[in-house]
Amino acid sequence: MSYLVTIGLEVHCQVDTATKMFCSCATSFGDEPNTNVCPVCLGLPGALPVLNRVAIEKTVLAGMLLGCSTPPVSKWDRKNYFYPDMPKNYQTTQMELPLCIGGEVQLYDHCYPNDVQKSIARPGILIRLNRIHLEEDVAKSTHLGNASLVDYNRAGTPLMEIVSEPDLETGEEAFAYLRTLQMILQQGGISDADMEKGQMRCDVNISLRKNASDPLGAKVELKNLNSTSAVRRAIHFEIERQTDEMDRGIAQIQSTRRWDDDRGESQMMRTKEDAHDYRYFPCPDLLPLETAEIVEKMSLLVPEAPHQRAARYEKDFALSRYDANVLCSELALSRYFEDVLAPGLAAKKVANFLINAMLGALNERGCGVGECPVSATEMRGLLQLVEDGTLASNQAREVLDAMMANPAKSAREIADEMGFKPTDTGALDALCDAVIAANPEKVAEIAAGNEKLLNFLTGQLMKAATTKPNPKLATDLLRKKILG
Ligand SMILES: [Zn+2]
Repeated sequence: MSYLVTIGLEVHCQVDTATKMFCSCATSFGDEPNTNVCPVCLGLPGALPVLNRVAIEKTVLAGMLLGCSTPPVSKWDRKNYFYPDMPKNYQTTQMELPLCIGGEVQLYDHCYPNDVQKSIARPGILIRLNRIHLEEDVAKSTHLGNASLVDYNRAGTPLMEIVSEPDLETGEEAFAYLRTLQMILQQGGISDADMEKGQMRCDVNISLRKNASDPLGAKVELKNLNSTSAVRRAIHFEIERQTDEMDRGIAQIQSTRRWDDDRGESQMMRTKEDAHDYRYFPCPDLLPLETAEIVEKMSLLVPEAPHQRAARYEKDFALSRYDANVLCSELALSRYFEDVLAPGLAAKKVANFLINAMLGALNERGCGVGECPVSATEMRGLLQLVEDGTLASNQAREVLDAMMANPAKSAREIADEMGFKPTDTGALDALCDAVIAANPEKVAEIAAGNEKLLNFLTGQLMKAATTKPNPKLATDLLRKKILG
């Protein structure tokens, strides 16, 4: 039988800072193991923490982007546990008074997996947040047979934990939730939120019950998932596993499970009986933080969220929702688009060319918009050549390819070199007359209503031309000459 599914997510996301949460060690990724360490992040006796103000400011900013409130005083607590990834034997976190409370995330429809884009069950659904607190990341452990390797470079990196209310119902919604959060945090300058680099990780809480009037079922937690598609797969597996057990009369118990993405299954780690008792208590080394000044400062710096920018593009530039969403999916792309815009260029045409031609060309080269070899100024030059009739849009694509390979030259220079000269109306006129004279039968058919043959004549004209005229202009002129 089918059950009601309730899902809540705890997302851990590294805050983008130059240094760690409580010391001045660098936070860079991929360095030689155990090189970015000091007495504080190694938990040596007598070392004292110093707060990273940027991490606090960015967390408060994340809260503002997600509609959270920040209490006047925020506190630090110790979460005690014994494991080699945290040599102090406690993690400094926020239990009682986090930096951000409440808030919500409205799932972006375009953040759902491609295969369900046309069948989103609850479009635009709001997922409530419970809180966002700031803590320190732990070291990275690698387990090899009988040995474990620990890299403390990551230990002490500022880590936000974004806790949702249990408002999600499917793996697809969890996927869209993570992608939406990623987009907002990346574009807000808060985190790169790259799951492949471990900058964003996620715990999934999932429970099943028969009826909406029943209390929530036993909570099963899946730990430390590190890709959006793994989250989707893990939720599908877990719903099926719990459904199967409940159908067979096996009651679910509160437990924590590990997701093995290679095998496509979850495995039991521990049940509630042997859950950790973290013995939280206020951190004696850090004073409670008064937040008023930070809130005031950050409230002036809240950037435009991706959905707000997309709405502006739809309204100001009359773009379709799809085009606006594509352009706003990445800050670098939005900036590029706005830099290309100029009086005399229709925003819709610019959007079309960037989405259809430029993104494709970049994709072929395996580079992102940030690394686009063609500057926004040169891209504008290219689109102006389309606008003034020198190039047809398919010709512009050819020129763009050449510009990508040779970014030092201007659009005009490359177009010239490729034989796309500005249209000489006298020459085009003569070419049209010649083609018309050479094809009297086709011309008669066109005059009788078979306009498709205009394409044939245009083809003949393009062959006869020594330069490369704009085929659209040629077709228009032929039509005018034959049909009046
Ligand atoms: Zn350190």
